Amino acid sequence: MTQPLPLLERAAAVIPNGMYGHQNVVLLPEGMPQFFDRAEGATLWDDQGRSYLDYMCGYGPNLFGYGHKEIDDAYVARMRAGDTMTGPAPVMVELAEAMTAQVSHADWAMFCKNGTDATTMAMMIARRHTGRKTIVLAAGAYHGAAPWCTPLKGGTTPEDRANQIHYIYNDAESLEEAVRKAGSDLAAIFASPIKHDTFVDQELPDPEYARRARELCDEHGALLIVDDVRAGFRIARDCSWASVGVQPDLSSWGKAIANGHPISALLGADKARMAAATIYVTGSYWFSAAPMAAAITTLRLIRETDYLERTIALGDRLRAGLDAVATRHGFGLRQTGPSQLPLIMFHEDEGFGTGYAFCSGLLQRGVYFHPWHNMFISNAMTEADIDLTLQAADDTLRDVRAGPKPGPVEKLQILAQLAAE
Ligand code: PMP
Repeated sequence: MTQPLPLLERAAAVIPNGMYGHQNVVLLPEGMPQFFDRAEGATLWDDQGRSYLDYMCGYGPNLFGYGHKEIDDAYVARMRAGDTMTGPAPVMVELAEAMTAQVSHADWAMFCKNGTDATTMAMMIARRHTGRKTIVLAAGAYHGAAPWCTPLKGGTTPEDRANQIHYIYNDAESLEEAVRKAGSDLAAIFASPIKHDTFVDQELPDPEYARRARELCDEHGALLIVDDVRAGFRIARDCSWASVGVQPDLSSWGKAIANGHPISALLGADKARMAAATIYVTGSYWFSAAPMAAAITTLRLIRETDYLERTIALGDRLRAGLDAVATRHGFGLRQTGPSQLPLIMFHEDEGFGTGYAFCSGLLQRGVYFHPWHNMFISNAMTEADIDLTLQAADDTLRDVRAGPKPGPVEKLQILAQLAAE
């Protein structure tokens, strides 16, 4: 009898590249599973039944734990009553009320499916509001995978990226220079709430840079857009830039707002309401009611629980513990960004060899880490989970120290080549 083909081989036959986007494990450390079968709390099970304590949280959506009962009960009840219908359910108004009550700069809300829908809408609204074309963005910042912003250029045209000028995040002078270049055509400044680009250290926003972005938009009649898709509600119970006292005109949201149920949002100030009302945007699933019910319950938990303080405390415990473990084994770690959104890389590891060996070793010990993308702390994690992670890190780094020094990761060369196109 012939054996069934492994899933990866079947995938390679019917899915381009076996998987597309950054979730293709081709670029990840040895042993990373491509397919997952189950998730609960802070734990993931792969298709072979192996379990992992998951520090990626679905790349952000898992804030209160996979399969959170209250959130999922709200989802299921609404789904059974009517989900994707000929028009929205009343829950859409309720969610818009809840989001605008939660986020201080927001007077209105629009809902969509992906973060990219929200950032694209923000760009359109800024252009509509100003009647201008140029948007100013930080070099290397991720705002989604539409032709205007996808990180690799394959399949896009130079025209898709026309009318964009880049600046260096946290560098007020380079922002001013970009705005100067935009001249009288500035429609918007885009800002990530923190610098959370891949492969490089994260940076918290310098309040002076954030304030300057606000002033420049006001001086030029342009809109300030904060892309809170990834960090939203993980830094503050408000827009993340509330933490530096700067209010944007528009903010884009997704990922954690419904704890993993598919919905994203664009929030805006009154000033941009007319523009928002006069662009044409829609989608077959944008008004599905069940994710909206899940988002309302998630927002209630954001207001009523200490999830933010807990995830920060857990992140601090992980950060301090990892520093101690790394020092014990003679490694230097670069742990950057807010501790609840940790990015962990090694000093003197330009080729990422040590980072990849570390993640592979952790994986074998049941901990899922990422070597070059910021990770996420879930409120479903416990101090015991952090301590288990620290033990796994201790054992892994002992092995890495004892083995030959890992060389540069060859598979990352493919990415560098594609990025250089
Ligand atoms: N903006 C940021 C900051 C993101 O992190 C992401 C997703 N990683 C997006 C936009 C795009 O979101 P989506 O993948 O849901 O389209």
